[in-house]
Amino acid sequence: MTTVKAYGAVNATDPLVPMTVERREVGPHDVLIDIGYAGICHSDIHTIRAEWGPITYPQVVGHEIVGHVVEVGSDVTKHKVGDLVGVGCQSNSCRTCAQCQQGHDQYCLAGNTQTYGSVDTDGTITQGGYSEAVVTNEDYVLGIPDGLDPAKTAPLLCAGITTYSPLKHWNAGPGVRVGIVGMGGLGHMGVKLAVALGADVTVLSRGTRKREDALSFGANAYVDTTDSEAMDRVRGSFDLLINTVSAGLDITTYLDLLDVDGALVNVGAPEQPFSVPAFSLIPARRTLAGSTTGGIPEIQEMLEFCAQRGIHPETELISVDQINEAWQRVLSADVRYRFVIDTKTFS
Ligand SMILES: [Zn+2]
Ligand SMILES: [Zn+2]
Repeated sequence: MTTVKAYGAVNATDPLVPMTVERREVGPHDVLIDIGYAGICHSDIHTIRAEWGPITYPQVVGHEIVGHVVEVGSDVTKHKVGDLVGVGCQSNSCRTCAQCQQGHDQYCLAGNTQTYGSVDTDGTITQGGYSEAVVTNEDYVLGIPDGLDPAKTAPLLCAGITTYSPLKHWNAGPGVRVGIVGMGGLGHMGVKLAVALGADVTVLSRGTRKREDALSFGANAYVDTTDSEAMDRVRGSFDLLINTVSAGLDITTYLDLLDVDGALVNVGAPEQPFSVPAFSLIPARRTLAGSTTGGIPEIQEMLEFCAQRGIHPETELISVDQINEAWQRVLSADVRYRFVIDTKTFS
């Protein structure tokens, strides 16, 4: 075992504190990654605050990890020492169920091993990327292609794939009218990816604060969701809406924006159940759906796509001692658009 520096929570309410975590011995199929960058995802905060259920403390979060391979196990074939690699939300899965067999390990029927907060095969709780190093099975380690800036790539591993996967599944492309609801960490990646896929993209966001950014990311249009006339004008006009907002949303209002056969896909996760009148769906054969991250093959595909197109998240690089302040800014939506921790700043 190796002891490494980390920044984590001792309970649901106090600020994160410096701590250490134990990383397992590098097994035959493991790689040891010297972490360079870790993105801050809103899920990190929900998890530590126990808003998605009780967890065990101390807990280190972080599932947008980029770093270099510094050691490989004896049977590793996919990565070598010196490679720039990434780890996203899942770090293992059963590999044998129907979903894993199709490369959809994010939907592993046995429940995959999350990069943090999951019970690992050795019975320990997985600890995430706000840390100096991590040991991960080679099959769940992504290669970061040339052309991506290492300091800006980490958010692709959650925010990027979480929007790319539903855009691909629901065929976002030329002629498809896509609306991205909410333009935070996830939403801004959704805009950039949908634009790169060739879709006709509209951003729907509260107020006009983000209009300029939305258009600069390539969106064709912007709708201020607090402007009821503007919302009325786009009723029935979307094929696909990706909802990235995790605060409660009037789902009926958004279903009404869909054309016949349109789909509203939730990637944000509100704490409260949706209330959906059947007649918001029936008269237009609409679909209300959900989607989470993507399987390892699709994450690799997304990374290649972003490298080819030069797509990067908008990031703000912070040092380790700024994590608590950054969390406060995430909670007050004061970030454009993703914090990335420079994990070389552990002291
Ligand atoms: Zn995330
Ligand atoms: Zn499985």
